[in-house]
Amino acid sequence: MATAAEVIRQHALLTDRWRKPSQVLANYVTSFVQDVSGNRGHASAASMFYPMASARDPEPWLRLIGRGLFTARTYQITAEMCHVTTQLYRKTDREVTRVSFSELPAESGFVWLDEPFMPRDRRGKVAAVRAMSWEVITADYANHTALPAIRFIVWADTRIDDDYTSDWQPGILKKSEKILGRLQLQHVMVIALDRDFAASDDESPLADNITAWFHALLMLLGTEITVSRRASLPKIILDDIRKLVKRPEVSVVTLRRSMKAASGEESGTRHVDWSFRWLVQGHHRHLESYDIVKHHATPLPDNRGRCAVCRGKITWVRPFIKGPDDAPVKDASVVYRLSR
Ligand SMILES: [Zn+2]
Repeated sequence: MATAAEVIRQHALLTDRWRKPSQVLANYVTSFVQDVSGNRGHASAASMFYPMASARDPEPWLRLIGRGLFTARTYQITAEMCHVTTQLYRKTDREVTRVSFSELPAESGFVWLDEPFMPRDRRGKVAAVRAMSWEVITADYANHTALPAIRFIVWADTRIDDDYTSDWQPGILKKSEKILGRLQLQHVMVIALDRDFAASDDESPLADNITAWFHALLMLLGTEITVSRRASLPKIILDDIRKLVKRPEVSVVTLRRSMKAASGEESGTRHVDWSFRWLVQGHHRHLESYDIVKHHATPLPDNRGRCAVCRGKITWVRPFIKGPDDAPVKDASVVYRLSR
C-alpha cells in the first residue's frame, strides 16, 4: 500500500506534467486522438476529448486537464475498499447508469486505487487502472443545450503489468515512465450528470464498464459503511505540493468495519453485517405530488431543488444500507444486494 505522502506526490507530479505539457506529451495525445478518430470515428473522438478544437494542437486541452487536476481533492482508496467496489460492480447487472452531481464528494477529485481495478476492454484484454480523476464541467450538446457533466479520466500505471505490457519488450515501461511519467492517460470521457446512459457498449458486451465501477465507488463513498479520514502529511511535503495541488490533503477511504478493527474501542461505530443487506442508490425524490405520468425526479440543471420534468420540489436522498426487514423502498430506481 502506498503512503498518503506518495499518493499526493503522484497527484502533484501528474498536475505538473499536464499543466505545463511537454512536446512529447502533446504528441502522445495527438496520436491518441487520431487513433480514436480512426477506430471509432470523429464524433467519438470529439466527445471524448471535448472541447478540443484540433488534434494537432492539443495543448489548450492538456492545460485544461492540468487545471482540473490542480483543483482536485485527493482520495486514497484502500485495497479492501477497491475490492468491495469491484464486488458491488460485478454483482450489478444493469442497463443504464446515472451519475448524479449529488453523489460526487467534490467538484473535482483524484482517486488513487491501492488495489488496481483490472477491467477487460473491448478486445477482451485486461488494462489495469491505477487512478481516476474527474471534474465538473458544462458541456454543449448537439441540440445546443448546455448540461452539467463530468470529465472523467482513467489513468494507467507504468508499474503494473497487464495484458498489454506483457507483450512489450523488457525495459520499455521504465523508459516510458521517464518520458511521460508514471501515471498515463488511459481513457477519457465526458458524462452528462443526472442523465441515464447505456451501461454497456453494444459492440463489446463483455467489456467492463469503467464508469459503472466508478459509480459503484461513488455510491459506497456516500454510505455509512465507508469512512474517510484525513492522513497527516509531513510539513516538508506540503510546502512542495501547495503549488500543484490546491488543497494538499489526502482523504483515506476505508470500510468502517476495518476502522473498528484497527482502533478496537470505537463504540459509536456499527458493525456491518454484510449478509442480506441492500444498498439503495442515492436518488432524487419528489416532495409534492404531480399530475403528469409517473417519472423519476430529475433535477433542473440550474435549480437542483426542482424537477426538470414536472417542476415540482425535489430532494436528494443519500444512498443507504438497509436490512432484510426494513420497509420497501419506493422511490429508488436501483437497489443492490450486498453480501460477501
Ligand atoms: Zn417530477
